[in-house]
Amino acid sequence: MVQELAPKLRLLVFTDVDGTLIDHFTYRYDEALPVLAILKTLKVPVILNTSKTFPETRELMEELGLNSPFAVENGAAVFFPEGFSPRPERCDIVLEGYCGVVFGRPHDEVRKAFLDVARSYPIRSVLDMDDEEISALTGLPPERIPPLKSRMFSEPFLMEGDIQPVIEEFSRRGFRVLKGGRFYHLLSEGQDKGKVVEFVRRLYGGAVLTVGLGDGKNDEDMLRRTDLAILIPNPKYGYAPVSVSPLRRARCMGPKGWAEEMTHVLRKTLPLLSVSRET
Ligand SMILES: [Mg+2]
Repeated sequence: MVQELAPKLRLLVFTDVDGTLIDHFTYRYDEALPVLAILKTLKVPVILNTSKTFPETRELMEELGLNSPFAVENGAAVFFPEGFSPRPERCDIVLEGYCGVVFGRPHDEVRKAFLDVARSYPIRSVLDMDDEEISALTGLPPERIPPLKSRMFSEPFLMEGDIQPVIEEFSRRGFRVLKGGRFYHLLSEGQDKGKVVEFVRRLYGGAVLTVGLGDGKNDEDMLRRTDLAILIPNPKYGYAPVSVSPLRRARCMGPKGWAEEMTHVLRKTLPLLSVSRET
């Protein structure tokens, strides 16, 4: 006889990419692969939630063999693979077969605000740097620079010195600045990585347990909205100063920390994920 013990608990994993699932410097993710394989077997969606662009993220999804929704440019849009269930109630854009739900304003508006403010402050957009300089800053090979520059919603930039007046200037214009692992990111108000968590969780409905993993200040909104929030240390600045409680601090950096923490989460939640047992 099969007895139902508890309602099925659906686990959803929301993860930052750079410095979290993949190494900050080498962009390698080997150490996360065994746990990713287990999550795939358990049909646990791993939802990449990153400041990267659509082409960058889609390529990584393919490399990792993931077929989950993914969010780009700090929560500006979340994309669902064709035929994915649950299906979002709206499709603001369709891109290469993916249905995109958009929260951010278009890049030309963000760019215009950036250029206006750049007249008064020493801010430099990554989009205005040549490929060589971007390679030196990111460690990315030349073929990975065009996908990085292919922005639809946000402007990555650098600034030396006090960023606060710049943040205030953008805020007056309806934009916000987030600090990522390498760059500042200019985005429209009303978009963030946490909104992605809310949207996807609501779409799944029912008994859902969300896990969030990130290493940056720009992951704070995501970590605040997940049931289990995990902060991965970064090799450049250690633990990002996020105010999230409760918060679990991973011991190791990058994919090693990611794999250790997800192994821990699976150990704790696996009994809850099984819905029946022989009696
Ligand atoms: Mg990161």
